[in-house]
Amino acid sequence: MPDSSTTPQPRPVTVVTGGSRGIGAATCIRLAADGHDLALGFVSNAEAAERTAAAVRAAGARCVTVRADTAEEADVERLFDTAAEQLGPVTGLVNNAGVTGPLGRLADTSAETLRRVVDVNLLGYLLCCRRAAKDMAAVGAGAIVNLSSVAATLGSPGDFVHYAATKAATDALTIGLSKELGPDGIRVNAVAPGMIDTDMHATAGDPGRADAAVPGIPLGRVGSAPEIAAAIAWLLSGEASYVTGTVLRVSGGR
Ligand code: NAP
Repeated sequence: MPDSSTTPQPRPVTVVTGGSRGIGAATCIRLAADGHDLALGFVSNAEAAERTAAAVRAAGARCVTVRADTAEEADVERLFDTAAEQLGPVTGLVNNAGVTGPLGRLADTSAETLRRVVDVNLLGYLLCCRRAAKDMAAVGAGAIVNLSSVAATLGSPGDFVHYAATKAATDALTIGLSKELGPDGIRVNAVAPGMIDTDMHATAGDPGRADAAVPGIPLGRVGSAPEIAAAIAWLLSGEASYVTGTVLRVSGGR
């Protein structure tokens, strides 16, 4: 019998969707430091993806970047195929790619925006979970972390109730899938960030949105992407080996 204390353990291979910027990029960098090899998905910003990949490689990890729109089944399949071919069997998924559309009341939101937000935030998560479930069941182990939001329980009135609805669906997906996949040795959890300093708010149309929320945050400040990455990394790690079906709120108390 080889001595497991001296036999090098294989590095976990983890897919991070939306790994180019924001929470996804911080997660890639954190996971690289924790010993993961990474398939980094992005949809359009190749420059940001390569910048994050360079930081991941500098931390000693292997990293493949894949342009993949998670709302497209074929793109999701190609993302996971590339990860398996270039890095090895996938045992981790961070379902992170998300969009809000422009800020506004539901009555003023176009059907095109509603469809895109549901396609990326819900269908995309389902497609990635579906493929991860197959790949991880074949290995007999794995962990999935879905990015939810405090919006799932706060509802985001006036900003994006459609986005909040997709995040509530993420919580239901997490609970149901954890029960479905537990017997296969696969854990499924979610992280629900509060107001985090990323491009998301400017993309939604209000660069000052995060700072404006500070008076309503008990800890009195906006959160950072590495603080969310730390929670994701913990849920993926062996330290969380008995944790499944949970939504971990990381929100400064909101
Ligand atoms: P972000 O800074 O806007 O970055 C979004 C990332 O998702 C980018 O890497 C982007 O790729 C990628 N992406 C967008 N649409 C995609 C698609 N269709 N297919 C593949 N990738 C796509 O966002 P973030 O703030 O880091 O948010 C990450 C996750 O956390 C989201 O699920 C979000 O809902 C959730 N969250 C964020 C906050 C917050 O305050 N920031 C709070 C709660 C929850 P490109 O670089 O190629 O555009």
